[in-house]
Amino acid sequence: MIFVIAEHNNGRPKPITNELLVAAQRVSREFGQPVTAIVLGENTAAVADDLKSRKIDRVIRIDDPNLAQYSPDTYVTALNGLLADEKPFLVIAGHTTQGYDFAPRLAVKLRRPLIAGMVDFEKHGDRLILTRQIFNAKMNMKTAVRGEAPYLATASPGAFPGDEVEGGGNAEVVSYAAQLEGPSTRKVVDRAEAQKGQADLSSAPIIISGGRGLKQKENFQVIFDLAQSIGGSVGASRPVVDAEWLPREYQIGSSGQTVSPRLYIAVGISGAIQHLVGMQTSRCIVAINKDAEAPIFKVAHYGIVDDLFKVLPALTKIFNDLKAGS
Ligand SMILES: Cc1cc2nc3c(=O)[nH]c(=O)nc-3n(C[C@H](O)[C@H](O)[C@H](O)COP(=O)(O)OP(=O)(O)OC[C@H]3O[C@@H](n4cnc5c(N)ncnc54)[C@H](O)[C@@H]3O)c2cc1C
Repeated sequence: MIFVIAEHNNGRPKPITNELLVAAQRVSREFGQPVTAIVLGENTAAVADDLKSRKIDRVIRIDDPNLAQYSPDTYVTALNGLLADEKPFLVIAGHTTQGYDFAPRLAVKLRRPLIAGMVDFEKHGDRLILTRQIFNAKMNMKTAVRGEAPYLATASPGAFPGDEVEGGGNAEVVSYAAQLEGPSTRKVVDRAEAQKGQADLSSAPIIISGGRGLKQKENFQVIFDLAQSIGGSVGASRPVVDAEWLPREYQIGSSGQTVSPRLYIAVGISGAIQHLVGMQTSRCIVAINKDAEAPIFKVAHYGIVDDLFKVLPALTKIFNDLKAGS
């Protein structure tokens, strides 16, 4: 059994949940293990209903008023009981603020190792090898899990393409009664949502990223204009953020966000390794750079070697004209 700890909000699974299910479905194909999604919270029927249409075997709801607010304590207590009863092979949570909060505590409680921030996996014989990135994503580390299951892992956002989740399922939904002794004494005191459509780049399908080639903050408007014309989100390389042209949450790369959109347009970005590790799994990469030797062209599927200040307004006009139907 492979367990996926679903993340949800307002009665709907968050995009990271599909990414975790893709990871689980792929591991499942290699190891022949069924996939179960675990939904913790209060009034989780709608989330469970949504998830059961994925190609998975089961959805387990742990519905309890004490789980209405996320807390690592109640999550660990609830999951500890479930794992003891069900004995899964692998448990995958998101490498998100929630996942990397409760997963290490759960690992300590179970006395099992946790592979944090996995980006890939392999099967060697009947052994599971999980890959995670280390040293600011300069190196990949492959870790063989040993000893008794369950093995615990958090998966990096953007590492598994959520839109490849297999659907067409009609999974059984079951309830599990967790033995909770009341709400956690630890409370979430405030929750601030990131600005919509911009900051949560990990699930954006189209990203237009600008780099130092933009030369100054005001010039970033050409990036926003192109993003607007094709319904994309805006990202940036680190120098852009260091120069305070854009806030930190726009940064993509080893010390920023990892993204895997369907389309990534890199504008005036040279393609340093620290940037590439954050976007190189994008489905289609387009690079616009006036230097034909820029390393970004090594990972790009399409390239335009020219001045971005000529190319971007022209592209934006084409997309706007197409939208207007002319
Ligand atoms: C520990 C560490 C962590 C880091 N983390 C990150 C990270 O998370 N993300 C990240 O991005 N970087 C990160 N970096 C920085 C990284 O090494 C690079 O310095 C950075 O990615 C370069 O950004 P850039 O491509 O925008 O700028 P540059 O390397 O300066 O490239 C600018 C590009 O714009 C092109 N250009 C200039 N003018 C035009 C024009 N008019 N038209 C078209 N093209 C033009 C140039 O040819 C050039 O290729 C990190 C570095 C370290 C040491």
